[in-house]
Amino acid sequence: MTCDALSRDDWSMPKNARKAPEYKEKQAAPKLLAWYGKHARVLPWRARSGEAADPYAVWLSEIMLQQTTVATVGPYFMGFLKRWPTVEALAKAPQDDVMKAWAGLGYYARARNMHACAKAISSDHGGKFPEDMEGLGRLPGIGPYTAAAIAAIAFGKRATVVDGNVERVVARLFDIETPLPKAKPEIRKAAETLTPDTRAGDFAQAMMDLGATVCTPKSPACNRCPINDLCDARTNGTQGLRPARAPKKPKPARQGACFWLTRNGHVWLRRRADKGLLGGMMEVPGTPWDRSDCHRTVKKLSQTDFDWAYPHAPTTAEWRLVPGLVTHSFTHFDLELSVFTAATRKKLVPGAEGRWVPLDELHGEALPTVMRKVAAHAMPEAGPLFAKR
Ligand code: SF4
Repeated sequence: MTCDALSRDDWSMPKNARKAPEYKEKQAAPKLLAWYGKHARVLPWRARSGEAADPYAVWLSEIMLQQTTVATVGPYFMGFLKRWPTVEALAKAPQDDVMKAWAGLGYYARARNMHACAKAISSDHGGKFPEDMEGLGRLPGIGPYTAAAIAAIAFGKRATVVDGNVERVVARLFDIETPLPKAKPEIRKAAETLTPDTRAGDFAQAMMDLGATVCTPKSPACNRCPINDLCDARTNGTQGLRPARAPKKPKPARQGACFWLTRNGHVWLRRRADKGLLGGMMEVPGTPWDRSDCHRTVKKLSQTDFDWAYPHAPTTAEWRLVPGLVTHSFTHFDLELSVFTAATRKKLVPGAEGRWVPLDELHGEALPTVMRKVAAHAMPEAGPLFAKR
């Protein structure tokens, strides 16, 4: 069937009939590229029209944007670029400085891999990013998605970039019924049929922008969509059901306690082990996060309910339980922390690992979000301390 025949017949297409994939293949890219020319988002890492993209900026933004929103990433991206304007400058930075600058972005393994990647590019590639997906994919922290994004956006290679926004657009465009995550290969295959031979980077960004601004998760603005005539979900009225998702398993809840020890305007912090969750970040010392029963009667908790926790305190002191809990959601579990506070006059904490950090320098420490919450809970006036980014 020709495209012309399909266009003519389109209006009478029966409900639930899928538009032929080859029709979308030919039409989606030109329509989206024309729309992108007028409606592209202005983003700090994005090249302006007519300018070549900077591979370093593309890479940095793509690493930061994994699991994080554009609004959150903006100030971090600008801060990194100002402080380390090239990949070689970043490679020379001490890891501790990189972790501090990253603090608050979450998924801290990304920061460590990013630093390792900068070093590898600097030492093994003369400071230049490889241009193809294979070369990019051999670098630390660059998976298939990031390799495709850099190859397409920075070097104009034909590569298909499928992030969460693109996944949603494609699942709707093809009205894919298979639930995520099982649908991922099907969605990728469908997305590949849409990718044009030229301007693959603009096309990738157009798809991302469409997902972010028009084909949004809850209420897609189909009447403003440049490819609404190609969309099977729109034809079938299933936009709200796509992408289909397998029911989420409830996350396990874990519990623990931590100890906010102050002395003369300082707080005692320690560094977490390099490997594992929040590896290499600073933390308020406490128990392992392996309990599931200690907050069951949270309203009635007393100091003695925490006899099990005190051996994990950095020192003996008059610990006071702060009412309420700190809650934080990690990818694989939800955490509840009780917080104890005490002040001490002791200069050193015998046998404890850590160091005294001036409270007014807390904002510059590599404290992950959960520990910032602990600080704010222990000391409500700590909030402004983190405002000096
Ligand atoms: S028509 Fe609607 S559901 Fe389909 S791609 Fe466009 S915005 Fe998304």
